[in-house]
Formats: sequence, structure tokens, C-alpha cells
Amino acid sequence: MASTQSRIGQQALAVLDVALRVPCIFIIDAIFNSYYDPGAGWAGAAGRVLVRVTGVLVSSVVLLLSQKALFKFYTLFFAVLLGTAAVLVNTYVTTQADFYGAYYKAALGFRLLPRNGPTLWLGVAAVQLLFAVGYVFLLDLRSLFAALVVLDVMIPLWGIAAELPADARQLVAAFSALVLGLNTAACLVARLRWFYYSCRYVFLLVRHMYRIYGLQLLLEDTWKRIRFPDVLRVFWLTRVTAQALILVYVVRAVRRESGDATGGAADGGADAQGFLLSWDVLWDVASNLIISGCDSTLTVLGMSAVISSVAHYLGLSILAFIGSTEEEDKRLGFVAPVLFFILALQTGLSSLDPEERLVRLSRNMCLLLTAILHFIHGMTDPVLMSLSASHVSSVRRHVPVLLVSAALFLLPVALSYALWHHYALNTWLFAVTAFCVELCLKVLVSLTVYGLFMVDGFSNVLWEKLDDYVYYVRSTGNIIEFLFGVIMFGNGAYTMMFESGSKIRACMMCLHAYFNIYLQAKNGWKTFINRRTAVKKINSLPEVRGDQLGRIEDVCAICYQEFATSARITPCHHYFHALCLRKWLYIQDTCPMCHQRVYVEDEGRNRDAFSNNNRGYAPPPRDAQAPVREHHRRGSADGEPPIDEAVGGAPAVGGAPAAGGAGEQDNELLEDNDSIEYDEDEWGTQNGGTPVEEDYINDDTDATDD
Ligand SMILES: [Zn+2]
Ligand SMILES: [Zn+2]
Repeated sequence: MASTQSRIGQQALAVLDVALRVPCIFIIDAIFNSYYDPGAGWAGAAGRVLVRVTGVLVSSVVLLLSQKALFKFYTLFFAVLLGTAAVLVNTYVTTQADFYGAYYKAALGFRLLPRNGPTLWLGVAAVQLLFAVGYVFLLDLRSLFAALVVLDVMIPLWGIAAELPADARQLVAAFSALVLGLNTAACLVARLRWFYYSCRYVFLLVRHMYRIYGLQLLLEDTWKRIRFPDVLRVFWLTRVTAQALILVYVVRAVRRESGDATGGAADGGADAQGFLLSWDVLWDVASNLIISGCDSTLTVLGMSAVISSVAHYLGLSILAFIGSTEEEDKRLGFVAPVLFFILALQTGLSSLDPEERLVRLSRNMCLLLTAILHFIHGMTDPVLMSLSASHVSSVRRHVPVLLVSAALFLLPVALSYALWHHYALNTWLFAVTAFCVELCLKVLVSLTVYGLFMVDGFSNVLWEKLDDYVYYVRSTGNIIEFLFGVIMFGNGAYTMMFESGSKIRACMMCLHAYFNIYLQAKNGWKTFINRRTAVKKINSLPEVRGDQLGRIEDVCAICYQEFATSARITPCHHYFHALCLRKWLYIQDTCPMCHQRVYVEDEGRNRDAFSNNNRGYAPPPRDAQAPVREHHRRGSADGEPPIDEAVGGAPAVGGAPAAGGAGEQDNELLEDNDSIEYDEDEWGTQNGGTPVEEDYINDDTDATDD
């Protein structure tokens, strides 16, 4: 109970914290958006600039205050405000209000105060009492002092009640104001010390953090501490709401007026129309709101913050829908706003004319939408793969992912169709279309791979070619992606040369060239090389086929399935499917069972150790035979089939061709030596250093010693 209470308290504090920071943004925004008049002389201009700069500075400082300091600042601020209000009311009442005439105007259409004499006096007294108590409370004044302050505020009213002459009343009011002002000033001065120390503390803290963690972490920390995204969101939403209210009010007022002008024939109809806005008007209002919602960098930031929360919840719901638990994929709430903001900067959104700005914004939104779809594809693809590869048979898990994939295919098609229907070709349309086509192709690649795995899952036989097919499909997809990267780069370069060449665009082009072209090509090449090396490594291992295969009464240690057509033997005499071992070799170079190097490619003794396995069928050299025998004996002791007899018994059937093939492979491998990165020393140290099992280490030292 207590914990929930404290949590609610913390949340309330957080809300208050955000709410108190929002006005600062409003002030900064107002200063930047207000019309700046450079006329009226040098001094006037300087003064205005000074006021603006001070306003921005003060607001920024308040915006960055810590929570405690922020609350303290607002306490003082409201205390001063209440004191001022009390003084103003006193002055007004003593000079203007007619307590005897019993007529009082309604303020803002409401009758705030009673109309006549004594009741009016009581009303004012109550208001003043409220102000005074609030002032005392906020400044945390002590009992006697507090009473004196309240008394001071009330004195002018007593003067009225005592029916003093007008001059004396004003004198009393001025005196009361003076006392209150002095008191306020004294209170502020008393807090100067606190102000100084807290400023110093903040300064030291910031300097310390800067020195230890650097600027980036400092900014990040500040960003989180003042809940900047929340502040921006609240700012933008409040601003738009206020503008919407004003616009609707104005539209209604115009309606009513024009309705009056045409004559009150259909009074009821006009009223109803004034109440409900037609679609056209609503559309106008909405587009006006959107246009003014991105008229400065601050408002664009606010818009990004709103987009961030929308994207965040969209991402979370899609993740929940497709049943993924990837933490990484929760970044959509970060990626989308950053993209939006960069696009806005790149296209100079806030400095465009209103009409143009709307067009530009909708174009940016299209680009953003396709980018988000790409991101969502990045979220669904791993889920699709894991579902198909792990042979999850529950339909309920497959359907949502497939639905999302279908949507990812159909949405870009629909989007590009609609856009081509309405617009002529330009660089923007080209970019959007390219994004859409790329997305469609990516979805197709994912679905094809998924289909292949599913087919494999339903058939009981091991599909040796599956891995190759998957690789071909995937690499086709990667090549297409790379080509699109190049095309987009060309498009960007064209835009930069002939349409708008901003610095931000140039930066973005560099980033694009690095991430989407260079890294893409590099990773693709790396995968290709890895794969080629793995294939070579496998091919260099001896193969067991036919009769011998039947004698191996064992299963593949990777997939636990029996050997149907062939098995590969590692130098350490473990059996695997070629396919299984190849997949393993993508990740590691060592035998999955005993962690010895599966593959060495070098001349001299290493080749000796290697060829022992091939020549295990024939009499090997004496010195090298010892460790191999050891191996084999160990093998049989471990419950593995005794390969000596297995291969030695029928050397002519499968052994000879396998050995011959391996020999050829060996030669071929020796030729393109450069692609293999192991040298003798590494081989020696690796084997000696890997703490596997004593016997193996002994074996290896034997083998390398000769
Ligand atoms: Zn296997
Ligand atoms: Zn092994």
C-alpha cells in the first residue's frame, strides 16, 4: 500500500516537473517566433535584443534546473506573483472601486464579485486574505511575521471600512505596498546564499561529469533528467490544442456573422451548422494546425517527440502481435523521430512557405512511413526465421507474422500506386518508390526462405541442398539491397546537385554511403568468403560412403540424425553430416565435440597429421601412426565405432576415392593459400593451449614434436 502510494507520489511529482518546464519552451518559442522589428533606433534595437536574449537565457536555465531547484524557483515566482496581485488589488480598490455606488462591472462576462457595497468589500477582503495567506505560505514565513504580513495586506481595506478620506486611503495603500515589497526583497536576498551555493554545486557537478564521462553522456543525462521528450510532447500538444480551439472559435464566429448577414430565416439550421463543422472546414483547420505545428525548429522537435511516442507504441504492439521478445527491436520509438527530424532539417521544413511546407511535410511523412515499414520488416524477419527453422507447428504463432509480412508487402504496393496515380515523377517519388520496391523484394526473400525451411520441416529426409538454396535466395536479396543503396545514393546526389544542396543532406549522403553501401558490401563479401572457406574445409575432410557408412553405428553429433548417404570425418575422428559441419564452421573453426581444429592447411608436419586420416586405410608412417592409434583406441573406448577396422577392412570401396578426392582438395587449397589465415605457430599454440582433455593435448604434442 505504502509502495503504491509512494509510486503515485513520484508520478505526480514527475507530471508536475514536466508541467513546470513546459512554460519555458513556450517562452523560448514565442521569442523566436515573435516578429522582430529592427527599427526604432540603435538603443531601442539593442534593448530589444537584450530582452530577447535574457528571456531565452532565463528560460533555458529554468528548463535545465534540477527538480528541487525548479520547485523552489516556482515557489518564489508564485509568491512574488501573489504579492504583486495583492498590491494591485489594493491600489485598484482604493482608487477605483466605488463601494458606495453599488454598481460593479462584470469581468470577462462573469460576475466574479458581488455587486454592491458591504458584500463587495467582503469579497475583496476574502480574495486579499487568500493572496496574503498564499504569499506567507509560499515564502514559509514564521508565525508573528506571517501575521504582520497578512495584516499589512489587509490594512488598506480597513482604511476603506473606516471611511478614511481618499488621500489617506491611497497613502495607506502605498505604505502597505512598500512594506510588502521590502519584505519580498528581504526574502529573496535571504535566499541569495542558497542560490549561490546551488549554482556553484551545479557548476561543480557538471564540470565533474564532463571531465569523467564526456560531453555526450552529460547531454544524455540532462536529456533524461529534465524529461525533455515529455516536455516537448506536452508543449506541442498544448500548442496545437490551443490553436485548434482558437481556430474553431474563429470559424464559428465567422459562420455566425455570415449567417446573420444572410438573414435569420433558418435560425435553427444556421446554429446547427455553426456547431458542426463540415469536412472541408475541418480539413482546412487540420492542415493549418499541421502547418503551424512545424513552423520552427522547436515545434519540429515537439512534433518528433509526438511521433516518437506513436512509433514506440506501434512498435510495441507489433512486437506483441508477432510474439517477439527482442529488446533491440524496441528502438522504433527512437529511430522514427530521429529520421523525421533529420528529414525536416534536410528539407528545411520550418523555413518554407506554409503551402509548400504542407506538401513537403506530407512527402517527408511518406518517406518516414516507408522507413518505418522497413524497420518493421527488420522486426518480423528474425521471428519468421526462428519459427520456420525451429519447426514450431502452432498455427497461431505463424499467422500473425505472416499477416504482418503480407501487410508489409501490400502497403508499399498500395502506397506507390496511389502516389504514381497523383504525382508526376520527381526525385522524391523516385526515392519513395525505390524504398517500396526494395521492401517488397525483402519481404519476398524472407517469405521464400521461410517457405524453404517449412518444406524442409515437413519432409523427413535431410535436405542437403537446403542451405545452398537459402544462401542463394538471401544473397540475391542482399545484392538487390546493395543495388538499391547505390541507386538511392545516385538519386540523392542528383537531388543535391540540381534541387537542394544543404550541408545536412551531404552528411546524410555520407552516412548512407557508409552504412547502406560500404558496410552492406563488406558484410556480403565476408559472408561469401566465410562460406567459401567453410565449403573448402569440408571438402578437404575425408568422406565415408556406402558400406562403411553402415558400420558406423553412430549419429551426427550436431543434428542427432543417422547418416543417410555420407559422413565426413574430422582429423579428430568425429563424424558429422557435411551440411551440419559446414553450418558449424560458419561460426567456429573447431570440432564441436572436442574443440580441435577441424581443418589445417599447411605443408610439413601439419599435413602429416592431416593425411594420417586419409591414409588410415593404408599403412601410415611409423612415427605419425602412434597418436592416430591412440585416437582410435580412445574412440572405441568412448563407444564410437572402431574406425580402424571399419575403413581398414574394406579399403577399396569408398576409402580410395575419398582419399584421392581429399588429396586433390589439398592441392587446390595449397594453391590459394592466401585465403586461409592459420599458420603453423598458431596451429601449434592453439592445440597446445586449448585446455580440452589431457589425452588430446598429449596426442597433439606427439604429433607436432616429430
Ligand atoms: Zn547432422
Ligand atoms: Zn573432434
